[in-house]
Amino acid sequence: MIPMSDLQAQYKSIRREVEQAVIQVLSSGQYVLGREVEAFEAEFAAFCGAKHGIAVNSGTSALHLALLAADIGPGDEVITTPLTFVATASAIVSAGAIPVFADIDPLTLTLDPAKVEAAITSRTRAILPVHLYGQMADMDPLRFLANRFGLVIVEDACQAHGAEYFGQRAGSIGMAGCFSFYPGKNLGACGEGGLVTTNSDMAAERIRRLRDWGQSKRYHHLEKGFNYRMDAVQGAILRIKLQHLDEWTETRRALAQYYKQQLSGLASIALPLEAEGRRHVYHVFAIRLVERDALATRLDGAGIQTGLHYPIPVHLQPAYADLGYHRGDFPEAEAAARELLSLPIYPELSFEQVREVAGGVANSVHVDA
Ligand SMILES: *Cc1c(COP(=O)(O)O)cnc(C)c1O
Repeated sequence: MIPMSDLQAQYKSIRREVEQAVIQVLSSGQYVLGREVEAFEAEFAAFCGAKHGIAVNSGTSALHLALLAADIGPGDEVITTPLTFVATASAIVSAGAIPVFADIDPLTLTLDPAKVEAAITSRTRAILPVHLYGQMADMDPLRFLANRFGLVIVEDACQAHGAEYFGQRAGSIGMAGCFSFYPGKNLGACGEGGLVTTNSDMAAERIRRLRDWGQSKRYHHLEKGFNYRMDAVQGAILRIKLQHLDEWTETRRALAQYYKQQLSGLASIALPLEAEGRRHVYHVFAIRLVERDALATRLDGAGIQTGLHYPIPVHLQPAYADLGYHRGDFPEAEAAARELLSLPIYPELSFEQVREVAGGVANSVHVDA
C-alpha cells in the first residue's frame, strides 16, 4: 500500500525537536502570536526574499487580507485561474470583489498571460496567479500587464514554498505573496496556518492590523478587522520545520526526476514540465492522460493511491454558478481537470516506492495498448 501522503513519517523524523518546541510554548503561557510567531515571520520572509512576513491562521486568510490591503472591494474584478483549489476564488469573494477567470497555459497549467490580457476590463484591479503544484506562473508577462494597466499582483503561493522564477522566490514578486501551512503543504503545521509576504511597509502594517481586529493598539480599532492570528504552537513547529525545508524540497525534486526517468517511455502519458528559469517544488506530481479514470482505478486495485487536483474547475462548481460561466468557457482548464492524475510525492517516499508506482502505471497503460 502506497498512500498519497504520510504525515506521521515526517513527524517521526523530527519528533524530538518538535516536542521540545511545543513543550516550551505550553510552559510559556503565550499561546497566540508572541515570540515564536514573530521569529517565524522574520525567518520565513527571509526564506522568500521578502521584506515582511505576517503570520495568519490559514492560506485563505492570507489571500483575503492581501486583497484588502490592496484596497480591493465591492465592484472590483480580480483575474485568476479556474484550475485551483476553491479557496483562491473564495478569498476574492470574501473581499467583496468578483473573480474573473482566464484560461491556463496547457504546458505549465498556470495562468496564460494572453488570456489574462483579454479578460481585463475597466473594473479589473488585480491579477491573482496561482503557482499551481509548486511551479510559479509566468510572472514577467503578468508583471508587464500589471504595469501597463495599473493592476496589483497578489501571488497565491499556497503550494509553492521555495519555488523560483528566474532566481526570484515565490512571494517576493507581487505586491503580496500568500502561503498556507495546512498539514499537507510542503511546509505544514500541525494544524492550520498561513502567512503573507510583502515588500511594502504600508501593506504589512495594514495586514498586521487586520489580522488582529483592526487594532492599532489594544481596544483601539482603526478599522473593522478579523481574528486571523497564528497560534504560538504552530509558529514554534513551523520554525523547526523551516530548517528542514530546503532538504525536503531537494528530495521532492529528486523523486520527481526519478518518476520522469521511469515514465519517459510511455507515449500516452504527458509528464510535468519544469519551464525555463523555474524551480518547481513539486507539491503535486501530476501526469496527464486521456484514460485517467481507468488508470486511477487500476492503481487503486494495486494498492497505489492517487489524487485529483482538481476534478472540477472552479467556474463549474455549483457554489460559483452565480458568476455565470458555462462548460466550454475555459477549454484548457476543463481538459486538464479531466486528464490530470496526481501520483504520491513527499520527502519520506522512497525511490523504491516511486519505482513501484511507475511500474504500476506502465503495467496499466500496456494493458490498454
Ligand atoms: C491550500 C491552498 C489554499 C488555502 O489554504 P488554507 O490554508 O487551506 O486556507 C489556497 N490556494 C491554494 C492554491 C491552495 O493549495
